[in-house]
Amino acid sequence: MVVEKIESTLALVKPDAFDNTENIITIIKRNGFVISERQVVTLSKERAAQFYEEHKERSFYDDLTTFMSSGPTLALVLRKADAITSWRQLMGPTNSDKARKEAPDSIRAKFGTDGSKNATHGSDSPQSAAREIAFFFPEYQHSSEFNGQDVREYLTK
Ligand code: UDP
Repeated sequence: MVVEKIESTLALVKPDAFDNTENIITIIKRNGFVISERQVVTLSKERAAQFYEEHKERSFYDDLTTFMSSGPTLALVLRKADAITSWRQLMGPTNSDKARKEAPDSIRAKFGTDGSKNATHGSDSPQSAAREIAFFFPEYQHSSEFNGQDVREYLTK
């Protein structure tokens, strides 16, 4: 008997893909994710800078934070077994042009524009998921559904 670890991850539909939100949510659900939190927010440049703080020394940081504060973003908490890796795989490579070549069915291939305007974000580790979920949903980590729990009702044979 295998106990599957249900994870939570943070997904963002970035401003460039906000008009495609419905299509992206359809793909998310079709791939078995449960959407446990959702929120539409327009980030200030300061909040966007805080979210992407780890990239503050990179040349693209200013353009990235300008882009991320240019319009509404949809923030979601997605849950399923292996959600972090699974969502990143569904998004595809960071650069949408590369995604169109290497993963044509991915979300970034379908809805992204280039290496910066790439439609979606996904946490890249359990630690970043915890930080990023708390960034948008400060109450979430106190709920019983937080990352890394062995959830008995998800027992599979
Ligand atoms: N980004 C960019 N230029 C680059 C690399 C990244 O504008 O050369 C942006 C892009 O929007 C990306 C985000 O910065 O999604 C975070 O970069 P990261 O390398 O963490 O990629 P991700 O985890 O989003 O695939």
